Amino acid sequence: MLYLHERQAVVDACKFLQEKHLVVGTAGNVSIRRDDDIIISPSAVEYSHMSVTDIVVVDMSGNIVEGKLKPSSELPFHISIYESTNYQAIVHTHAPASTALSVVVDEIPITHYYAALFGGAIRVAPYALYGSDELAVHIAKALEGRTAALLANHGAVTVGLDIKGAIGLVEYLEYLCDVELKVLATGRPAKVISPAELDKVIAKLDTYRQ
Ligand code: 13P
Ligand code: ZN
Repeated sequence: MLYLHERQAVVDACKFLQEKHLVVGTAGNVSIRRDDDIIISPSAVEYSHMSVTDIVVVDMSGNIVEGKLKPSSELPFHISIYESTNYQAIVHTHAPASTALSVVVDEIPITHYYAALFGGAIRVAPYALYGSDELAVHIAKALEGRTAALLANHGAVTVGLDIKGAIGLVEYLEYLCDVELKVLATGRPAKVISPAELDKVIAKLDTYRQ
């Protein structure tokens, strides 16, 4: 079986999303890129039953390389992100705060310094039918210079140089969206962090480790 390690990482990421209530039912999907191959979660499979043999390997044109199930219906946007960036992993959620915020803003204002984790103000990709090429175009554009995007009336996407990076951003994104919803609920004017100040955070986070 090809890519056993990557298959297991996709399964683990899917189960993490379920355990943390960042998806409901069979919502969401996860992929890892290896050269011209994409290792992706299958469509419409319960996470509690998912195992490495369910994971599908496709090429960059979407042809099945190995796998017996249908790949995620969101394969078009996974391909378009990999075509337009150097990222090696993608996580898509229907996390509640991310989804709620996607309905009421076009961009998440920089009200928390964690925006630096994502490269700046996170954009909301306009609504389009799930699985459509149109949605793929919107998401690739919203992700320019960013490691996350919200999908209007749908959910969120994070990307990373590896699966640890992409999955690691999901909870930070959900936190940011939850905080922003609470800010909006106050109805009070929000203080924002300037782009120059955010640049300082981006530089400083580079050394945020033991
Ligand atoms: P799949 O089960 O086909 O990956 O679709 C879930 C989803 O979130 C569609 O946007
Ligand atoms: Zn979805």
